[in-house]
Parts: sequence; structure tokens; C-alpha cells
Amino acid sequence: MKISRIDLYNVELPYAGGVYRLSGGRTYESFEAAIVRITCDDGTEGWGESTPFGSTYIAAHAAGARAGIAELAPALLGRDPRQTDRIADVMDSTLAGHHHAKTPLDVACWDIFGKSVGLPVSELLGGSTGVALPMISSIHAGDPDEMRSRVAEHRAKGYRGHSIKIGALDSEGGPALDAERITACLADRRPGEFFLVDANGGLLPETALRMIQLLPHGLDFTLEAPCATWRETLSLRRRCPYPILLDELAQLDEDIAFAAAHDVADGIGLKISKAGGLTRGRRHRDICRAAGLTVSVQDTVGSVIAFAAIVHLGATVAPRSLRCVLNCADMVALQTAEFDAVFTGDGVLPSSSPGLGIVVNQDVLGDPAMTWQA
Ligand SMILES: [Mg+2]
Repeated sequence: MKISRIDLYNVELPYAGGVYRLSGGRTYESFEAAIVRITCDDGTEGWGESTPFGSTYIAAHAAGARAGIAELAPALLGRDPRQTDRIADVMDSTLAGHHHAKTPLDVACWDIFGKSVGLPVSELLGGSTGVALPMISSIHAGDPDEMRSRVAEHRAKGYRGHSIKIGALDSEGGPALDAERITACLADRRPGEFFLVDANGGLLPETALRMIQLLPHGLDFTLEAPCATWRETLSLRRRCPYPILLDELAQLDEDIAFAAAHDVADGIGLKISKAGGLTRGRRHRDICRAAGLTVSVQDTVGSVIAFAAIVHLGATVAPRSLRCVLNCADMVALQTAEFDAVFTGDGVLPSSSPGLGIVVNQDVLGDPAMTWQA
């Protein structure tokens, strides 16, 4: 089995909730997806997606993803897509870094691998635990009462976890506003619910400590990505009473290893596109398991194709180590594919369909922007 053709589609994904607000005054209204189809010499097709969260979230942006794929695709023609680690080696020897550009190619290879042996990707990654994956909402920053009502809306839709975005600039209200946001969002907490309070690196140790001192005693949440750098995070870690989860800082294998070795955090947000795909995501999962770190399996954002990869990897994380998965497809207003996942009252599971279990709506994608052929 050899890769004979690679198509790249550029697709605009509007944010489903209007304007998404993050720490530091960052705003987002739509996201540019790079969607890849790999076709093999026997006609088998695989799909993958990389959708950066704008250009100001991490060092990844849509034009970079497209340029990276153009660099990588010719090197993959003629290769066996089922040799997923070797595909990763070829990509690393063709382009240093730029993992978000490698992601859609990597994920498409796993989709093909699954189809070639008639098994879901989750089985190839170690096997689904069969335990429904709890899904987390994404509550962008805003007025405390308005954020509280958005938590309630997502609770009514069946979400058991909530990601509360904070990180107000001083001009917006600073640590006092963030403390009000957290208090409001946790006010109606139900048994079994969990909360990640996510600053997306927007706090300094000083502002984080002031915010913590303004919170009422006994709130149960995990503080995600409080600071933008390792030094700031380590400094806060020594003085923070809440568990800390890394996200933007935890991108490479060595980041996860460093976090474990230096006890920087209690868990990570494993975003498939920032990790570089399922091949590296699987490795991050295993480093976390060895180190006793919890894992949220997510992506920077993305459509159903990205969500399918999340579900397949998330299904292979031991339930006690899995904090949640992110239904990123629920954040965007365009359905790029049908995904035959099984939704239960407790969460989501992959079905037994081979590969990712998706059927792509090619009418939505339009024509490929670029094609490479053997
Ligand atoms: Mg995060």
C-alpha cells in the first residue's frame, strides 16, 4: 500500500458563538482549517485536519499549516501510510518543527491504516476502554453572570465539565473580575461536574496570586495554563493551592517529560494538532500515564474531522487519567463530515467503523486548493 495522491482543502470555520474572547484581549470569529485527503494506490482514502486557533494562540497559523503541508506532501508520496512512526520520521527529516502542519497528514495515515485492517483507529491506538468520554464545554471570557448562563446552557446540553476562560487585563477588571467569573461559573455546580479555569497563559504569578486570594474558600477546580512561560508557571506552582494543568506550554515530547521531571503540573491538555497528530499524541498519553498526570484530549479547535481524532485517542486513555475530551465540532458552524460516534448521557465513544468512522461532506469542502500526485 502506497500513498499516490494528497489533496489539501482550505475551509473557513465560523465560530458558532459569535465572538470568542480569550485572555489578553484576544478575539476570534472564525478559524481556517487545513483539511487533507490522502489517497492510496488501492483507492483507500484517509482524512485529517489541522485548525489553528487564529494566529495568536500558539506559534501556529493557518498560512503556516498550508505552507508546511506543501513542504511535506511530496516527501510522503510512495510511502506506506500504515507505518505511522516512519511517516513521522519522514516528516521530521523534511521539515523541522511545525507540528501542526504534520497533524492532518499523520491523522489521515491512521484513518487509512484503520480502513486497511477493518478496525477503528482507537483499536490501533491500544483499544477503546468502552467508558463514555466526558465532554467539556468551552466558555469564553465575558461578564460573570453571562458566563454563568452559558455554563447553564451547556449543562442543559449534557456537558459534565466546563472550561472557564479567564485572564482579564487590568483595563478590563484584572484579578477581581477573574475571581468573580470563577465564582459565578461554579455557583450552580452539580454533583459530578468538574471545572477547568483556563487563563491561556494570560496571568503573571502576581496577578494569579491576587486572584486566588480573592476567591471564596473551598472551590473545586483545576487551574489551566495560568502563565505563558515555564519560569512563571514553576514560580506560581510553588505557591498555588489549586492543581495546575498545562496546555499551550505542553507541545513537544520533551515538554511533557520536563513537566513530569520538574513537577510543574498535575496534568496536560493534549491537543492533537499542537502535538503533531495521533502518533505523537499517543506518546504524550503514555508519558502522562507513567508520570501520573491527568489528560484532557482536545484540539486547538476544528470541525468534526478533528473531533473524530480526539474521540479515538481519548477512548484509549485510562478512565482515571482522562479528565475530559473537547467537542471542538460544537464550537464551529460548519459540518465537514458525518461522524458515527456513539453519544450517551455520560459522553461519547467511537463506533466500530474502520478508521476514523467519518464520511466527509465534500460539497462543503469545495475543490482542493493544492494536489500532489505520484
Ligand atoms: Mg486550554
